[in-house]
Amino acid sequence: DSVEQLDAALIGCRACPRLVEWREEVGRVRRRAFADCDYWSRPVPGFGPANAPLVIVGLAPAAHGGNRTGRAFTGDPSGDVLFPALYDVGLATRPTSTDRDDGTELVGVRITMPVHCAPPDNKPTIAERDACRPWLMRELTLLRPTTRVFLAFGAYAWQALLPILADSGWIVPRPRPGFGHGAEVELEHQADGQRVRLIGCYHPSHRNIATRTLTPEMLRDVLAQAAHAAGL
Ligand code: SF4
Repeated sequence: DSVEQLDAALIGCRACPRLVEWREEVGRVRRRAFADCDYWSRPVPGFGPANAPLVIVGLAPAAHGGNRTGRAFTGDPSGDVLFPALYDVGLATRPTSTDRDDGTELVGVRITMPVHCAPPDNKPTIAERDACRPWLMRELTLLRPTTRVFLAFGAYAWQALLPILADSGWIVPRPRPGFGHGAEVELEHQADGQRVRLIGCYHPSHRNIATRTLTPEMLRDVLAQAAHAAGL
């Protein structure tokens, strides 16, 4: 199958009862600012071309962001920080991401996540993460022919990604390398010797930005590092 077919199938997934209830509930009880919006309230697929050399892995859609608009990092404070940075380093066609039909496109990068439905408090359970694992595993396998760099947004993404990569044939060092902002690990695929780099970056969450744990400059620098490593 193709990435497009995978995305189409994903949108119908109802495997996690708590998340199905939450994603629909959030759409019913809307925030006042979004009272007129038609919430997506379904799983949010990856965003970006299927032949992207750079694959960004986040956490999960935001309740009033991706869960509202149907596109990753779209219509929420994280996207407001991420898209100007992507645009600055040539990875997005526009510096904003407000709606799934706003015309913004990603260039050489695909953004996906280990959990595709918005969780309460942005905290999926281990069972929910595990239920969603086959979707990410399948997507990464489909993307593999052109992947050169994985960029993990936050420790959660890093820790979700490493076992998936190990189970997909990538040789992951033992003990498993720890997450760090700017951390880099080179991985080789045991089937054919393909090499990719895994890079860590603090998640551009509202909290990390508000506390200046991650500044827009730091984000731009890591995106530039990842783009360079991916040959973009
Ligand atoms: Fe399906 Fe993943 Fe959503 Fe769970 S989180 S319902 S596995 S798409």
